[in-house]
Amino acid sequence: MDFRDSEAEAEFRAELRSWIAGRGPVAPMPHDDEGRLAYLSELQASMHEAGLSALTFPVEYGGRGLPAEYEAILLDEMGRAGLPSAWHYGYIARVILMYGNEEQKRRFLPTAFSGEERWCQGFSEPDAGSDLGSLTTRAELRGDIYVATGQKVWTSEAKWADWCLLLARTEPDQPNHRAMSCFIVPIDAPGLTVRPFRQITGAMEFAEVFFDGVEIPISARVGGAGEGWPIAMSTVAFERGPGDVGYIADLGRSIAKMTDLVRSKLSTDGVVAPSVATSPYAVGLAQSMVEVEVLRVHVLRSLSRRTRGTSSEIDASVDKLLMVRTEQALGHRLMDVEGPDIMLGRAPSDLHDYLWSRAASVYGGSEQIQKTIVATRLLGLPRER
Ligand SMILES: Cc1cc2nc3c(=O)[nH]c(=O)nc-3n(C[C@H](O)[C@H](O)[C@H](O)COP(=O)(O)OP(=O)(O)OC[C@H]3O[C@@H](n4cnc5c(N)ncnc54)[C@H](O)[C@@H]3O)c2cc1C
Repeated sequence: MDFRDSEAEAEFRAELRSWIAGRGPVAPMPHDDEGRLAYLSELQASMHEAGLSALTFPVEYGGRGLPAEYEAILLDEMGRAGLPSAWHYGYIARVILMYGNEEQKRRFLPTAFSGEERWCQGFSEPDAGSDLGSLTTRAELRGDIYVATGQKVWTSEAKWADWCLLLARTEPDQPNHRAMSCFIVPIDAPGLTVRPFRQITGAMEFAEVFFDGVEIPISARVGGAGEGWPIAMSTVAFERGPGDVGYIADLGRSIAKMTDLVRSKLSTDGVVAPSVATSPYAVGLAQSMVEVEVLRVHVLRSLSRRTRGTSSEIDASVDKLLMVRTEQALGHRLMDVEGPDIMLGRAPSDLHDYLWSRAASVYGGSEQIQKTIVATRLLGLPRER
């Protein structure tokens, strides 16, 4: 593929730059929960107003119907400007587009794009993470109502969410891949309790979510009864795709930050290094820039494959592995540049980014699981020795 912008793409990029410039200086994202909520909500609303929140979704559901490359340009420019990606649940919108019925698409997609309604993903359980097939939350059909009972955990942003995409066991007699169904459940449904808990970054973004006889109408099921497994697999594959969750923007933002830090380090330290090339900070920055660029191009390739209908879920695993390596190395290098400041609490934002980067190898399916997918399904290696 040709990675250069076409004329239309270059025009779009120029439009974007002027939209970003028109927003004024980029404020750093706060790390406290309420500050982050306000920051991201404002960003999402402003993107929506500018027609940037659903570039690649069909026009009839409130998108712009543009090819995937435009999404990559958006993330690229936002990252360059130091802006984070907006809400990360665009991947859930993609799942609704793919598996939802017409009514669900018309009801849920526009408000997800505008940010008026937020989502969380209720898949993982205390004893079902990598092995999602062993989940025990069940939804029993009684007449035309399902009654859900069980517990989810690690549910990101549940405390801010309006809706939960729930995966529950509905067909207990079937093998796992035909035993689950997916539902759209309002977070304030009677019997549903969200109990947030603190993570190492200090944020309380995670939650345990309890279902105690929650009634879900049959019309809230996404797909057919017992058809939840492929939906869940698509959800996590979209969640793994750094293009879908906006990671390119976030990594670009970190690179912009590290560039400033290295610049000031080199000047305030009296540029101890005789040349920039021998400064370990500059070398680390250069390495990270190369890694982010490789990831960006890789994501562009995956997005472009998707446009042509030739992508597979394995692409997302490859991208995720690259993303983990890139993000964690960048987090480490930022720590190195900050030196003792990070431990002495003088660089809380970088400490936050470092701690957050540790989670990359777990969420959306752990690194080990992605390696197994790539080894067995892409490289054709045997499962057992
Ligand atoms: C920041 C963050 C946000 C999250 N958000 C959500 C969310 O919104 N919704 C949601 O449903 N879940 C969410 N999760 C949960 C996430 O999907 C699970 O943590 C992940 O799937 C791993 O499951 P687990 O934690 O139960 O670990 P386990 O599955 O118990 O794994 C523990 C360790 O064993 C390894 N392991 C397990 N099985 C194998 C195997 N077969 N081969 C090799 N190694 C293996 C794993 O790689 C891992 O290192 C989030 C997690 C994090 C960290």
